[in-house]
Amino acid sequence: MPDETAVLAPNFTTDPYWWDAAPPATAREALPETTDVLVVGSGYCGLSAAAELARNGVDVTVVDAEELGAGASTRSGGMVSSGQKLVIGGAVKGVDAARMERLLADSISSYEHLRTLIAEKQLDADLGVFGRYFGAHVPRHYDRLRRHGELLARHTGVTVHEIPKSRQHEVTQTDFYHGGIVIDEYGGLHPGKYHRALRRLATESGARLRSHAPVLKVGPLTNGFHSVETGRGTIRARNVFFGTNGYTGQGNPDLRKRIVGVRSYQIATEPLPPELMAQINPGRRMITDSKRELVYSRPSPDGTRVLFGCRPGLFDLPEREAAPRLHAMMLKVWPQLAGYRVTHCWSGKVGMTADKIAHMGRRDGIDFALGCNGNGVALMTYLGHQSALKLLGHQNQPSAFDSPAFPEIPVPFYDGRPWFLPIVSGWYHLQDAIDRRMARL
Ligand SMILES: Cc1cc2nc3c(=O)[nH]c(=O)nc-3n(C[C@H](O)[C@H](O)[C@H](O)COP(=O)(O)OP(=O)(O)OC[C@H]3O[C@@H](n4cnc5c(N)ncnc54)[C@H](O)[C@@H]3O)c2cc1C
Repeated sequence: MPDETAVLAPNFTTDPYWWDAAPPATAREALPETTDVLVVGSGYCGLSAAAELARNGVDVTVVDAEELGAGASTRSGGMVSSGQKLVIGGAVKGVDAARMERLLADSISSYEHLRTLIAEKQLDADLGVFGRYFGAHVPRHYDRLRRHGELLARHTGVTVHEIPKSRQHEVTQTDFYHGGIVIDEYGGLHPGKYHRALRRLATESGARLRSHAPVLKVGPLTNGFHSVETGRGTIRARNVFFGTNGYTGQGNPDLRKRIVGVRSYQIATEPLPPELMAQINPGRRMITDSKRELVYSRPSPDGTRVLFGCRPGLFDLPEREAAPRLHAMMLKVWPQLAGYRVTHCWSGKVGMTADKIAHMGRRDGIDFALGCNGNGVALMTYLGHQSALKLLGHQNQPSAFDSPAFPEIPVPFYDGRPWFLPIVSGWYHLQDAIDRRMARL
């Protein structure tokens, strides 16, 4: 068991590193009695939908069960890309070619939408396009990554560089990976600042944002209104939109059966000497790998710290206990970080779906966009925006993610409590370990 006291800095906190600069917000003002659109969830998805609706003169109220931004949006790694998750994460395997083209085209649109939104609205989000390195966990994954890179280059137009292990130190000084690929167009932003900027945008557009108002039950449409029970009273809403992703719970039992909230953890190191940062990540790229239980890393936007993320083991743990485990995993990749301590360890829930693809649409008269599968900074912003356009009747064409089939999680009697996660996680760990062991033989 890694030693907690040697790893945690005296100022250690379980709040996300991002909250130092931009914490979530409280908005306890009274709820309206009536609203045109009630948006449930104040992450990127909900705020993006609300901003577009309000900009078009719709009366919108966003409610969150906790503080505004308490969910994954202010907790993520902030990495942005276009379609890599569908290809490298394996979601398009088995999807017919026409649908794959449409999903990838929409993924490109999501990244373009994010970049345009940030540029046009001058959002303070620290977006930097430095590229991403995908490291091969075992030698045979190198060929797989190269094939995926070719597919992404062909279908999404990105620039891919193959990096054999002999040249890996040009990208990052580790021997842990067996080469990999760099994609130039991918980047990263500051999730907390981006969320704060979206809050401002939604408010300035005319949306009402309210925290600490959990939606408990949504009644059927009666005389043109849903009666929505919240922890702070009832609201009558003509339309209800769920952007609750990995936090989808009791407010919508139907959607809850279709999504699993999987906890992912991150640490931030204390500020590091510039020479060390230059060894770990001279190009300031995002770094992920080819494991089933993904490990990811990036520099803080100011380039002073390493942020490192993964699951700490089969079971969820309190962040204080998870931090030494993540630190130990980070040292396996970069032993030169030994002796540097962890200032932050936090976690958040990623929304996973049965088919590894996000879904938007309408079920039983309720609209939704859910299921980022760990890749939602650009995508959930975009699907929120697309959902708003659809409600307004302004969409040019349906999104590829808008499909009537939104499969249930294929586990009997699943009701939103993922009791089976340690088993799935154990299976992934085992397969990753077998891959590594076989590679050594
Ligand atoms: C640790 C971590 C790292 C990640 N890294 C990346 C990354 O590098 N790149 C990337 O693209 N994506 C990443 N993601 C995923 C990304 O953060 C999410 O896809 C995205 O933030 C989802 O936004 P959202 O608005 O859909 O949901 P969220 O931001 O999760 O917001 C959902 C909100 O709904 C609220 N809510 C739930 N139920 C109710 C209810 N009944 N009533 C009222 N409110 C309710 C919750 O309180 C929550 O605030 C990461 C996620 C995590 C957790």
